[in-house]
Amino acid sequence: MFDRKLHEKAQRLLQQETDLRKAVHKNQFQNHYQPIVRLDTASLAGFEALIRWSHPDLGMVYPGAFIPTAEETGLIIPITKLTLEKACRDLKEWQAIVGSRLELTVSVNISSRHFLQPSLLDDLKEVLGSCDLSPQHLKLEITETALMEDSEETVRLAQRLKDFGIRLVIDDFGTGYSSLSYLQRLPIDTLKVDRSFISKIHEKPDSNRNIVEAIISLAHKLNMTVVAEGIETPEQYAILLDMKCELGQGYLFSRPVPGSEVGRLISQIKTFSDEHTSLPYPLTNCLSINTVAHPLVLCICFGFRYSNFVF
Ligand code: C2E
Ligand code: MG
Ligand code: MG
Repeated sequence: MFDRKLHEKAQRLLQQETDLRKAVHKNQFQNHYQPIVRLDTASLAGFEALIRWSHPDLGMVYPGAFIPTAEETGLIIPITKLTLEKACRDLKEWQAIVGSRLELTVSVNISSRHFLQPSLLDDLKEVLGSCDLSPQHLKLEITETALMEDSEETVRLAQRLKDFGIRLVIDDFGTGYSSLSYLQRLPIDTLKVDRSFISKIHEKPDSNRNIVEAIISLAHKLNMTVVAEGIETPEQYAILLDMKCELGQGYLFSRPVPGSEVGRLISQIKTFSDEHTSLPYPLTNCLSINTVAHPLVLCICFGFRYSNFVF
């Protein structure tokens, strides 16, 4: 039976596939970057690269609207290569500004289809080699679905990446349906707690506080660090700090911004830190970009201990 809606959907997908192929050819993608923050000192730890498509007719297209088609068509592989190259080149530039006083990292999202390609490690070696960047500066974010099979092959691929020095992060942790046994078998460095848990961390009576606490405790028992995603309020920040969550990112600190703004931000932070050598690299200037500047965050940035701060 002819279904007009299905037909229109198929046409839209076909058009998007054609557009995506052109976009790869013309490199119409940009990386935006969101700071990842060391929560106890509110200092900068690194960035997550988040892709945007500058579509000639539609303007800026967010990943949710094209990554599924890119994955389905296999175009995700050349697209990710472009993202990776740009992220590594940008990080190298920023690292040159801050020097050895601060070790920054860049996290890149890798789809499950790409992660399972045996050629991934060679691609990564090539990109890192061409940027002269050490693998320790790169983190790959993969979702639980990529590891769902928990097959020997997945473990072998992950171990090869780890042996080379690249760090692995489980993105959106807690939203998949996988068994936890893979955490033991795979060489994972970091769990990234999904935003849906963080957003309800202080809601009553339906709080996710115990779940987040259990995830942090599980990660620490397995020698992993934790990143909380989607921190939007000072209350969420305070609770996570109390739970000894090491890292966080979210609109409270900064929204994702274009690479050019990050370069400017890093230079400002460096100038500030050179003048205040006793402080770690604080995110004070980050706050001026694009974020909610709350007194709690500002106090922490300026070196007040959270424990001394009453709010
Ligand atoms: P993700 O990797 O979990 O990235 C976090 C998403 O949450 C980003 O959305 C970010 O802008 C958003 N976010 C960060 N902090 C907050 C907050 O405080 N509140 C709210 N409401 N949102 C926040 P974005 O950039 O639209 O990316 C969506 C997803 O698209 C990513 O989720 C990732 O799965 C995928 N993605 C992005 N870039 C790439 C890429 O280069 N390759 C692949 N394969 N996937 C990508
Ligand atoms: Mg991610
Ligand atoms: Mg995520």
